Amino acid sequence: MAKVAKKAGWNLSHSYARLPEIFFTRIKPIPVRAPKLVIFNRPLAVSLGLDPEVLQGKEGVEIFAGNRLPEGAEPLAQAYSGHQFGYFTLLGDGRAHLLGEQITPDGERYDIQLKGSGRTPYSRSGDGRATLGPMLREYIISEAMHALGIPTTRSLAVVKTGEGVRREKVLPGAVLCRVAASHLRVGTFQYAAVWGDLTELKALADYTLQRHFPEYRNEANCYLQLYKQVIKRQAKLIAHWQLVGFVHGVMNTDNMTISGETIDYGPCAFLDTYNPATVFSSIDEHGRYAYGRQPDIGGWNLARLAEALLPLFHPDQEQAVNLAQEALAAYQPLYQEYWLAGMRAKLGLFNRLEDDETLITELLNLMERYEADYTNTFRALTLGETKSGKLFCTRDFAAWQERWQARLRQQRATKAEVLALMKKSNPAIIPRNHRVEEALAAAVERDDYSILENLLSVLANPYAYTPEQEKYAVPPPPADTPYRTFCGT
Ligand code: AMP
Ligand code: MG
Repeated sequence: MAKVAKKAGWNLSHSYARLPEIFFTRIKPIPVRAPKLVIFNRPLAVSLGLDPEVLQGKEGVEIFAGNRLPEGAEPLAQAYSGHQFGYFTLLGDGRAHLLGEQITPDGERYDIQLKGSGRTPYSRSGDGRATLGPMLREYIISEAMHALGIPTTRSLAVVKTGEGVRREKVLPGAVLCRVAASHLRVGTFQYAAVWGDLTELKALADYTLQRHFPEYRNEANCYLQLYKQVIKRQAKLIAHWQLVGFVHGVMNTDNMTISGETIDYGPCAFLDTYNPATVFSSIDEHGRYAYGRQPDIGGWNLARLAEALLPLFHPDQEQAVNLAQEALAAYQPLYQEYWLAGMRAKLGLFNRLEDDETLITELLNLMERYEADYTNTFRALTLGETKSGKLFCTRDFAAWQERWQARLRQQRATKAEVLALMKKSNPAIIPRNHRVEEALAAAVERDDYSILENLLSVLANPYAYTPEQEKYAVPPPPADTPYRTFCGT
Protein backbone atom coordinates (compact mmCIF):
# COMPACT_ATOMS: atom_id res chain seq x y z
CA MET A 1 0.00 0.00 0.00
CA ALA A 2 1.37 3.40 -0.92
CA LYS A 3 2.47 5.49 2.01
CA VAL A 4 0.30 8.56 2.47
CA ALA A 5 2.42 11.70 2.75
CA LYS A 6 2.00 13.49 6.05
CA LYS A 7 0.15 16.76 5.66
CA ALA A 8 1.62 20.06 6.76
CA GLY A 9 -1.70 21.25 8.20
CA TRP A 10 -2.44 24.11 5.84
CA ASN A 11 -5.95 25.42 6.32
CA LEU A 12 -5.92 28.48 4.12
CA SER A 13 -8.85 30.79 3.69
CA HIS A 14 -9.04 33.87 1.45
CA SER A 15 -11.23 36.59 2.85
CA TYR A 16 -8.99 39.43 1.58
CA ALA A 17 -9.17 38.05 -1.95
CA ARG A 18 -12.95 38.54 -1.87
CA LEU A 19 -12.55 42.32 -1.59
CA PRO A 20 -13.08 44.43 -4.74
CA GLU A 21 -10.33 43.82 -7.28
CA ILE A 22 -8.64 47.18 -6.89
CA PHE A 23 -7.18 45.96 -3.58
CA PHE A 24 -4.86 43.32 -5.00
CA THR A 25 -3.32 41.59 -7.97
CA ARG A 26 -3.29 37.85 -8.22
CA ILE A 27 0.29 36.81 -8.80
CA LYS A 28 2.53 33.91 -7.85
CA PRO A 29 5.86 34.14 -6.06
CA ILE A 30 8.81 33.80 -8.41
CA PRO A 31 10.83 30.61 -7.84
CA VAL A 32 14.42 30.79 -6.65
CA ARG A 33 17.43 28.69 -7.58
CA ALA A 34 18.60 26.77 -4.53
CA PRO A 35 16.54 27.39 -1.40
CA LYS A 36 17.76 26.38 2.02
CA LEU A 37 15.83 26.76 5.27
CA VAL A 38 18.05 28.63 7.71
CA ILE A 39 15.66 29.35 10.55
CA PHE A 40 12.27 28.02 11.51
CA ASN A 41 9.88 28.95 14.32
CA ARG A 42 8.61 25.68 15.75
CA PRO A 43 6.33 27.04 18.50
CA LEU A 44 4.71 29.47 16.08
CA ALA A 45 4.15 26.69 13.52
CA VAL A 46 2.48 24.55 16.17
CA SER A 47 0.23 27.39 17.31
CA LEU A 48 -0.84 27.87 13.69
CA GLY A 49 -1.78 24.19 13.43
CA LEU A 50 1.16 23.42 11.14
CA ASP A 51 3.39 20.37 11.38
CA PRO A 52 7.01 21.38 12.09
CA GLU A 53 8.42 18.05 10.87
CA VAL A 54 6.82 18.41 7.45
CA LEU A 55 7.70 22.08 7.13
CA GLN A 56 11.32 21.58 8.08
CA GLY A 57 11.62 19.04 5.28
CA LYS A 58 11.81 19.50 1.52
CA GLU A 59 8.19 20.55 1.17
CA GLY A 60 8.54 23.36 3.71
CA VAL A 61 11.70 24.75 2.14
CA GLU A 62 10.03 24.94 -1.24
CA ILE A 63 6.94 26.58 0.18
CA PHE A 64 8.86 29.17 2.20
CA ALA A 65 10.97 29.96 -0.85
CA GLY A 66 7.91 30.49 -3.03
CA ASN A 67 8.90 27.61 -5.34
CA ARG A 68 5.79 25.64 -4.52
CA LEU A 69 2.41 26.76 -3.21
CA PRO A 70 0.93 25.30 -0.05
CA GLU A 71 -2.31 23.41 -0.44
CA GLY A 72 -5.20 25.80 -1.01
CA ALA A 73 -3.07 28.91 -1.60
CA GLU A 74 -4.39 31.81 -3.70
CA PRO A 75 -1.33 34.07 -3.89
CA LEU A 76 -1.71 37.79 -4.36
CA ALA A 77 0.06 41.07 -3.85
CA GLN A 78 -1.82 43.72 -1.89
CA ALA A 79 -2.32 47.27 -3.10
CA TYR A 80 -1.84 50.20 -0.74
CA SER A 81 -0.41 53.65 -0.65
CA GLY A 82 0.99 55.78 2.11
CA HIS A 83 2.77 58.86 3.32
CA GLN A 84 6.48 58.17 3.27
CA PHE A 85 8.30 60.76 5.36
CA GLY A 86 5.29 63.00 4.89
CA TYR A 87 4.87 62.55 1.11
CA PHE A 88 1.96 60.63 -0.36
CA THR A 89 2.78 57.79 -2.80
CA LEU A 90 1.19 54.77 -4.43
CA LEU A 91 2.88 51.67 -3.04
CA GLY A 92 1.68 48.07 -2.66
CA ASP A 93 3.49 44.79 -2.06
CA GLY A 94 6.49 45.24 -4.29
CA ARG A 95 8.25 42.18 -2.98
CA ALA A 96 5.65 40.26 -1.01
CA HIS A 97 2.95 37.68 -1.69
CA LEU A 98 0.04 36.82 0.54
CA LEU A 99 -0.48 33.06 0.27
CA GLY A 100 -3.70 33.08 2.24
CA GLU A 101 -5.04 33.26 5.77
CA GLN A 102 -4.30 30.27 7.95
CA ILE A 103 -7.20 29.32 10.21
CA THR A 104 -5.65 27.98 13.39
CA PRO A 105 -7.01 25.11 15.49
CA ASP A 106 -8.40 27.83 17.80
CA GLY A 107 -10.28 29.36 14.89
CA GLU A 108 -8.06 32.42 14.58
CA ARG A 109 -7.12 33.87 11.22
CA TYR A 110 -3.53 34.83 10.33
CA ASP A 111 -2.08 36.12 7.08
CA ILE A 112 0.75 33.98 5.75
CA GLN A 113 2.92 36.21 3.64
CA LEU A 114 6.23 35.73 1.85
CA LYS A 115 8.51 38.75 1.76
CA GLY A 116 11.33 38.90 -0.79
CA SER A 117 9.44 36.52 -3.08
CA GLY A 118 9.78 38.34 -6.39
CA ARG A 119 8.46 41.24 -8.43
CA THR A 120 4.82 42.26 -8.58
CA PRO A 121 2.96 45.02 -10.43
CA TYR A 122 3.74 47.24 -7.41
CA SER A 123 7.52 46.79 -7.53
CA ARG A 124 8.25 50.06 -9.36
CA SER A 125 12.02 49.96 -9.95
CA GLY A 126 12.66 47.38 -7.20
CA ASP A 127 13.85 43.85 -7.86
CA GLY A 128 11.22 42.21 -5.66
CA ARG A 129 13.90 40.59 -3.55
CA ALA A 130 15.22 40.81 0.00
CA THR A 131 18.61 40.05 1.47
CA LEU A 132 19.50 37.63 4.22
CA GLY A 133 20.72 40.07 6.89
CA PRO A 134 17.57 42.23 7.04
CA MET A 135 15.24 39.19 6.90
CA LEU A 136 17.06 37.58 9.83
CA ARG A 137 16.95 40.93 11.58
CA GLU A 138 13.18 41.08 11.18
CA TYR A 139 12.96 37.53 12.52
CA ILE A 140 15.01 38.37 15.64
CA ILE A 141 13.36 41.69 16.48
CA SER A 142 9.79 40.64 15.76
CA GLU A 143 10.15 37.52 17.89
CA ALA A 144 11.82 39.58 20.65
CA MET A 145 8.92 42.05 20.55
CA HIS A 146 6.44 39.20 20.83
CA ALA A 147 8.29 37.84 23.86
CA LEU A 148 8.26 41.33 25.39
CA GLY A 149 4.47 41.20 25.17
CA ILE A 150 4.17 43.79 22.41
CA PRO A 151 1.68 43.17 19.58
CA THR A 152 3.63 42.39 16.43
CA THR A 153 3.70 40.48 13.20
CA ARG A 154 5.62 37.22 13.68
CA SER A 155 8.28 35.37 11.74
CA LEU A 156 7.74 31.74 10.80
CA ALA A 157 10.79 31.00 8.68
CA VAL A 158 13.65 32.40 6.66
CA VAL A 159 15.10 30.66 3.60
CA LYS A 160 18.22 31.57 1.73
CA THR A 161 17.47 31.62 -1.95
CA GLY A 162 20.87 30.59 -3.30
CA GLU A 163 20.74 33.71 -5.47
CA GLY A 164 22.69 36.94 -5.20
CA VAL A 165 20.81 40.20 -4.81
CA ARG A 166 22.39 43.37 -6.13
CA ARG A 167 22.55 46.18 -3.58
CA GLU A 168 25.68 48.33 -3.08
CA LYS A 169 27.32 44.97 -3.49
CA VAL A 170 25.92 41.54 -4.26
CA LEU A 171 24.36 40.03 -1.12
CA PRO A 172 22.77 36.65 -0.41
CA GLY A 173 19.04 36.66 -1.13
CA ALA A 174 16.41 35.46 1.32
CA VAL A 175 12.66 35.11 1.78
CA LEU A 176 10.93 35.66 5.11
CA CYS A 177 7.61 34.06 5.94
CA ARG A 178 5.66 36.64 7.94
CA VAL A 179 2.55 35.94 9.98
CA ALA A 180 0.16 38.77 10.82
CA ALA A 181 -3.32 39.34 12.23
CA SER A 182 -3.72 41.06 8.86
CA HIS A 183 -1.73 43.30 6.56
CA LEU A 184 -4.37 46.03 6.54
CA ARG A 185 -2.61 49.35 6.94
CA VAL A 186 -3.50 52.99 7.32
CA GLY A 187 -2.14 53.10 3.77
CA THR A 188 -4.72 50.55 2.59
CA PHE A 189 -7.47 53.02 3.53
CA GLN A 190 -5.59 55.90 1.95
CA TYR A 191 -5.39 53.84 -1.22
CA ALA A 192 -9.13 53.13 -1.12
CA ALA A 193 -9.93 56.80 -0.54
CA VAL A 194 -7.82 58.03 -3.44
CA TRP A 195 -8.15 55.23 -6.03
CA GLY A 196 -11.46 53.69 -5.10
CA ASP A 197 -15.03 54.89 -5.06
CA LEU A 198 -17.25 55.06 -2.00
CA THR A 199 -18.46 51.46 -2.47
CA GLU A 200 -14.89 50.20 -2.44
CA LEU A 201 -13.94 52.24 0.61
CA LYS A 202 -17.00 50.95 2.39
CA ALA A 203 -16.21 47.37 1.39
CA LEU A 204 -12.76 47.74 2.93
CA ALA A 205 -14.15 49.26 6.13
CA ASP A 206 -16.80 46.54 6.44
CA TYR A 207 -14.16 43.91 5.87
CA THR A 208 -11.91 45.44 8.54
CA LEU A 209 -14.75 45.62 11.04
CA GLN A 210 -15.59 42.00 10.39
CA ARG A 211 -11.98 40.89 10.69
CA HIS A 212 -10.74 42.97 13.62
CA PHE A 213 -13.65 44.58 15.42
CA PRO A 214 -16.69 42.34 14.87
CA GLU A 215 -18.30 43.53 18.11
CA TYR A 216 -18.79 47.03 16.58
CA ARG A 217 -20.15 45.85 13.23
CA ASN A 218 -23.75 46.55 14.04
CA GLU A 219 -23.27 49.74 16.02
CA ALA A 220 -24.83 53.03 14.92
CA ASN A 221 -21.76 54.71 13.48
CA CYS A 222 -19.67 51.57 13.07
CA TYR A 223 -17.04 53.35 10.91
CA LEU A 224 -16.42 55.93 13.59
CA GLN A 225 -16.16 53.05 16.05
CA LEU A 226 -13.63 51.41 13.77
CA TYR A 227 -11.57 54.59 13.80
CA LYS A 228 -11.81 54.92 17.59
CA GLN A 229 -10.64 51.35 18.07
CA VAL A 230 -7.64 51.86 15.80
CA ILE A 231 -6.77 54.98 17.79
CA LYS A 232 -6.93 52.98 21.00
CA ARG A 233 -4.79 50.14 19.70
CA GLN A 234 -2.16 52.49 18.31
CA ALA A 235 -2.05 54.53 21.53
CA LYS A 236 -1.44 51.33 23.44
CA LEU A 237 1.11 50.01 20.96
CA ILE A 238 3.20 53.17 20.82
CA ALA A 239 3.11 53.47 24.62
CA HIS A 240 4.49 49.93 24.69
CA TRP A 241 7.30 50.89 22.31
CA GLN A 242 8.25 53.88 24.45
CA LEU A 243 8.24 51.79 27.60
CA VAL A 244 10.82 49.34 26.24
CA GLY A 245 12.85 51.92 24.29
CA PHE A 246 11.93 50.67 20.82
CA VAL A 247 12.53 52.98 17.86
CA HIS A 248 10.53 51.84 14.84
CA GLY A 249 12.48 54.05 12.48
CA VAL A 250 10.08 54.30 9.57
CA MET A 251 6.59 55.10 10.80
CA ASN A 252 5.19 55.84 7.35
CA THR A 253 1.43 55.37 7.12
CA ASP A 254 1.94 52.21 5.06
CA ASN A 255 3.88 50.79 7.99
CA MET A 256 1.09 51.32 10.52
CA THR A 257 -1.35 48.46 10.87
CA ILE A 258 -5.05 48.65 11.58
CA SER A 259 -4.78 45.61 13.88
CA GLY A 260 -2.38 47.43 16.23
CA GLU A 261 0.53 45.11 15.52
CA THR A 262 4.04 46.42 14.99
CA ILE A 263 4.96 45.87 11.34
CA ASP A 264 7.91 46.36 9.04
CA TYR A 265 11.16 45.85 10.85
CA GLY A 266 13.42 47.83 8.57
CA PRO A 267 15.67 50.31 10.33
CA CYS A 268 14.27 49.72 13.84
CA ALA A 269 16.48 49.41 16.91
CA PHE A 270 16.37 49.66 20.70
CA LEU A 271 17.78 52.52 22.75
CA ASP A 272 20.97 51.94 24.64
CA THR A 273 21.57 55.37 26.19
CA TYR A 274 18.37 57.21 26.94
CA ASN A 275 17.88 60.19 24.70
CA PRO A 276 14.54 61.16 23.17
CA ALA A 277 16.28 62.53 20.07
CA THR A 278 17.67 59.10 19.19
CA VAL A 279 17.42 58.18 15.50
CA PHE A 280 19.04 55.06 14.08
CA SER A 281 17.86 55.09 10.49
CA SER A 282 20.37 56.35 7.98
CA ILE A 283 17.63 57.86 5.82
CA ASP A 284 15.84 59.74 8.61
CA GLU A 285 17.96 62.86 8.19
CA HIS A 286 15.63 65.22 10.01
CA GLY A 287 14.75 62.95 12.91
CA ARG A 288 11.09 62.75 11.89
CA TYR A 289 10.87 59.29 13.45
CA ALA A 290 13.10 59.88 16.49
CA TYR A 291 12.25 57.93 19.66
CA GLY A 292 10.67 60.91 21.41
CA ARG A 293 8.54 61.83 18.39
CA GLN A 294 6.88 58.46 17.93
CA PRO A 295 3.75 59.28 19.95
CA ASP A 296 3.14 62.47 17.93
CA ILE A 297 3.78 60.72 14.65
CA GLY A 298 1.22 58.12 15.69
CA GLY A 299 -1.28 60.96 15.97
CA TRP A 300 -0.25 62.38 12.60
CA ASN A 301 -0.76 59.00 10.95
CA LEU A 302 -4.14 58.58 12.61
CA ALA A 303 -5.19 61.97 11.22
CA ARG A 304 -4.37 60.61 7.74
CA LEU A 305 -6.57 57.59 8.48
CA ALA A 306 -9.42 59.93 9.46
CA GLU A 307 -9.06 61.81 6.18
CA ALA A 308 -9.46 58.55 4.30
CA LEU A 309 -12.50 57.50 6.33
CA LEU A 310 -14.29 60.89 6.33
CA PRO A 311 -16.99 60.05 3.75
CA LEU A 312 -18.00 57.10 5.91
CA PHE A 313 -18.30 59.13 9.10
CA HIS A 314 -21.00 61.44 7.78
CA PRO A 315 -22.37 62.48 4.36
CA ASP A 316 -21.90 66.11 5.33
CA GLN A 317 -18.20 66.90 5.21
CA GLU A 318 -18.20 69.45 7.98
CA GLN A 319 -19.96 67.10 10.35
CA ALA A 320 -17.64 64.30 9.32
CA VAL A 321 -14.60 66.45 10.11
CA ASN A 322 -16.05 67.34 13.51
CA LEU A 323 -16.61 63.68 14.34
CA ALA A 324 -13.08 62.82 13.25
CA GLN A 325 -11.52 65.61 15.27
CA GLU A 326 -13.46 64.68 18.33
CA ALA A 327 -12.35 61.05 18.04
CA LEU A 328 -8.73 61.95 17.37
CA ALA A 329 -8.66 64.27 20.39
CA ALA A 330 -8.80 61.13 22.53
CA TYR A 331 -5.51 59.82 21.16
CA GLN A 332 -3.04 61.90 23.16
CA PRO A 333 -4.75 61.41 26.56
CA LEU A 334 -5.17 57.70 25.84
CA TYR A 335 -1.52 57.36 24.93
CA GLN A 336 -0.55 59.24 28.08
CA GLU A 337 -2.75 56.99 30.19
CA TYR A 338 -1.19 53.79 28.78
CA TRP A 339 2.29 55.21 29.10
CA LEU A 340 1.78 56.39 32.68
CA ALA A 341 0.28 53.07 33.69
CA GLY A 342 3.30 51.30 32.19
CA MET A 343 5.77 53.66 33.84
CA ARG A 344 4.10 53.26 37.21
CA ALA A 345 4.50 49.52 36.87
CA LYS A 346 8.17 49.94 35.90
CA LEU A 347 8.67 51.77 39.20
CA GLY A 348 6.69 49.24 41.22
CA LEU A 349 3.71 51.51 41.78
CA PHE A 350 0.30 49.90 42.05
CA ASN A 351 -1.81 52.92 42.98
CA ARG A 352 -2.04 56.25 41.18
CA LEU A 353 -1.08 59.52 42.77
CA GLU A 354 -1.17 63.00 41.35
CA ASP A 355 2.60 63.57 41.36
CA ASP A 356 3.60 60.28 39.72
CA GLU A 357 4.16 61.84 36.35
CA THR A 358 6.59 64.36 37.84
CA LEU A 359 8.50 61.59 39.59
CA ILE A 360 8.78 59.67 36.31
CA THR A 361 9.75 62.69 34.25
CA GLU A 362 12.44 63.62 36.75
CA LEU A 363 13.98 60.18 36.46
CA LEU A 364 13.95 60.35 32.66
CA ASN A 365 15.53 63.81 32.75
CA LEU A 366 18.31 62.50 34.97
CA MET A 367 18.81 59.51 32.68
CA GLU A 368 19.19 61.86 29.76
CA ARG A 369 21.51 64.25 31.58
CA TYR A 370 23.79 61.48 32.87
CA GLU A 371 23.57 59.40 29.68
CA ALA A 372 22.18 56.36 31.41
CA ASP A 373 21.31 53.16 29.61
CA TYR A 374 17.51 52.98 29.32
CA THR A 375 16.92 49.26 29.91
CA ASN A 376 19.64 48.85 32.49
CA THR A 377 18.54 51.78 34.62
CA PHE A 378 15.18 50.13 35.18
CA ARG A 379 16.86 46.75 35.54
CA ALA A 380 19.12 48.16 38.26
CA LEU A 381 16.19 49.82 40.05
CA THR A 382 14.39 46.48 39.94
CA LEU A 383 17.32 44.58 41.39
CA GLY A 384 18.29 47.32 43.84
CA GLU A 385 21.71 47.54 42.20
CA THR A 386 22.15 51.29 42.30
CA LYS A 387 25.54 51.53 43.99
CA SER A 388 27.75 52.13 40.97
CA GLY A 389 27.35 53.83 37.59
CA LYS A 390 27.47 57.41 36.39
CA LEU A 391 23.84 58.21 37.11
CA PHE A 392 23.57 56.32 40.38
CA CYS A 393 26.60 58.08 41.90
CA THR A 394 25.07 61.54 41.55
CA ARG A 395 23.39 63.53 44.30
CA ASP A 396 20.54 64.21 41.95
CA PHE A 397 19.82 60.51 41.74
CA ALA A 398 20.12 60.03 45.50
CA ALA A 399 17.51 62.75 45.99
CA TRP A 400 15.26 61.18 43.38
CA GLN A 401 15.64 57.75 44.93
CA GLU A 402 14.53 59.10 48.28
CA ARG A 403 11.41 60.53 46.70
CA TRP A 404 10.78 57.23 44.95
CA GLN A 405 11.17 55.25 48.17
CA ALA A 406 8.82 57.65 49.95
CA ARG A 407 6.33 57.20 47.12
CA LEU A 408 6.58 53.41 47.42
CA ARG A 409 5.58 53.75 51.05
CA GLN A 410 2.36 55.46 49.96
CA GLN A 411 0.88 52.15 48.91
CA ARG A 412 -0.01 48.92 50.67
CA ALA A 413 2.05 46.55 48.50
CA THR A 414 4.76 44.43 50.12
CA LYS A 415 8.38 44.51 48.96
CA ALA A 416 7.91 41.16 47.28
CA GLU A 417 4.89 42.44 45.38
CA VAL A 418 6.79 45.53 44.25
CA LEU A 419 9.70 43.37 43.07
CA ALA A 420 7.37 41.03 41.18
CA LEU A 421 5.65 43.95 39.44
CA MET A 422 8.96 45.55 38.50
CA LYS A 423 10.37 42.28 37.18
CA LYS A 424 7.45 41.74 34.88
CA SER A 425 7.51 45.36 33.71
CA ASN A 426 11.23 45.85 33.14
CA PRO A 427 12.88 43.48 30.71
CA ALA A 428 16.21 42.12 31.90
CA ILE A 429 17.29 42.08 28.28
CA ILE A 430 16.37 43.56 24.93
CA PRO A 431 17.88 42.79 21.51
CA ARG A 432 20.94 44.99 21.93
CA ASN A 433 22.10 46.37 18.60
CA HIS A 434 25.65 45.07 18.91
CA ARG A 435 24.36 41.59 19.82
CA VAL A 436 22.02 41.58 16.86
CA GLU A 437 24.83 42.68 14.55
CA GLU A 438 27.14 40.00 15.93
CA ALA A 439 24.52 37.29 15.32
CA LEU A 440 23.82 38.55 11.80
CA ALA A 441 27.49 38.76 10.86
CA ALA A 442 28.11 35.15 11.93
CA ALA A 443 25.04 33.94 10.03
CA VAL A 444 25.51 35.95 6.85
CA GLU A 445 29.29 35.92 6.53
CA ARG A 446 30.20 32.54 8.04
CA ASP A 447 26.98 30.57 7.76
CA ASP A 448 27.16 30.11 11.54
CA TYR A 449 23.70 30.28 13.11
CA SER A 450 24.74 29.32 16.64
CA ILE A 451 25.08 32.90 17.89
CA LEU A 452 21.70 33.80 16.45
CA GLU A 453 20.06 30.72 17.98
CA ASN A 454 21.52 31.56 21.40
CA LEU A 455 20.38 35.15 21.13
CA LEU A 456 16.86 34.04 20.16
CA SER A 457 16.70 31.67 23.07
CA VAL A 458 17.58 34.31 25.70
CA LEU A 459 15.29 36.87 24.07
CA ALA A 460 12.40 34.42 24.31
CA ASN A 461 12.09 35.13 28.05
CA PRO A 462 13.06 38.75 28.55
CA TYR A 463 11.54 39.02 32.04
CA ALA A 464 13.20 35.89 33.41
CA TYR A 465 16.25 37.53 35.02
CA THR A 466 18.36 34.38 34.57
CA PRO A 467 22.16 34.33 35.00
CA GLU A 468 22.62 33.40 31.29
CA GLN A 469 20.98 36.68 30.36
CA GLU A 470 23.49 38.83 32.19
CA LYS A 471 26.06 39.02 29.45
CA TYR A 472 23.33 40.01 26.99
CA ALA A 473 22.41 42.95 29.22
CA VAL A 474 25.79 44.62 28.85
CA PRO A 475 25.56 47.77 26.70
CA PRO A 476 27.93 48.16 23.76
CA PRO A 477 31.35 49.68 24.34
CA PRO A 478 31.37 53.43 23.65
CA ALA A 479 31.68 54.03 19.91
CA ASP A 480 33.01 56.97 17.93
CA THR A 481 30.10 56.87 15.52
CA PRO A 482 26.44 56.34 16.44
CA TYR A 483 24.73 53.07 15.54
CA ARG A 484 23.09 53.25 12.09
CA THR A 485 20.45 51.10 10.48
CA PHE A 486 19.48 50.83 6.82
CA CYS A 487 16.07 50.58 5.26
CA GLY A 488 14.42 48.53 2.55
CA THR A 489 17.34 46.24 1.88
P1 AMP B 1 9.23 49.58 3.13
O1 AMP B 1 10.18 50.72 3.25
O2 AMP B 1 9.85 48.23 3.39
O3 AMP B 1 7.98 49.78 3.92
O4 AMP B 1 8.82 49.51 1.61
C1 AMP B 1 8.19 50.56 0.94
C2 AMP B 1 7.65 50.09 -0.38
O5 AMP B 1 8.72 49.69 -1.24
C3 AMP B 1 6.72 48.91 -0.31
O6 AMP B 1 5.73 49.11 -1.28
C4 AMP B 1 7.61 47.74 -0.67
O7 AMP B 1 6.88 46.66 -1.20
C5 AMP B 1 8.53 48.36 -1.70
N1 AMP B 1 9.84 47.69 -1.80
C6 AMP B 1 10.85 47.71 -0.89
N2 AMP B 1 11.90 47.00 -1.33
C7 AMP B 1 11.57 46.52 -2.56
C8 AMP B 1 12.25 45.72 -3.53
N3 AMP B 1 13.47 45.26 -3.34
N4 AMP B 1 11.58 45.45 -4.67
C9 AMP B 1 10.34 45.91 -4.89
N5 AMP B 1 9.66 46.66 -4.02
C10 AMP B 1 10.25 46.97 -2.86
MG1 MG C 1 6.52 48.69 4.48
